[in-house]
Amino acid sequence: MGDTWVTDIRHYLDDNEELIQEPGPARRLGEYLCTIIEEVTASTRNKGGWETEVRCRRRPHHKLCEGNIVAGFDETDPTITWFCPFCEDNGFITGWQETQWDRRKT
Ligand SMILES: [Zn+2]
Repeated sequence: MGDTWVTDIRHYLDDNEELIQEPGPARRLGEYLCTIIEEVTASTRNKGGWETEVRCRRRPHHKLCEGNIVAGFDETDPTITWFCPFCEDNGFITGWQETQWDRRKT
């Protein structure tokens, strides 16, 4: 059973709006979340949610999870939702608009 990660990407950025430099779990999670933000916002597909190229980061039983993250957002509710269809790891990302990972064409 996966966990639910409720994250505001701004908590993973430093004063220059760059991903925090300190190595460790927070930076690794931040990198993962930024990858999801890029994938979701760069796509012209329906924003409702689709399977991305982002591989799940979990390692249940010390084996890399085989799931690809399904993610999307809705223009009326700019929270990116994501989940892994294999292990059910899932989460919500807020605060991503106008960051360097926001690839939406305006
Ligand atoms: Zn997974």
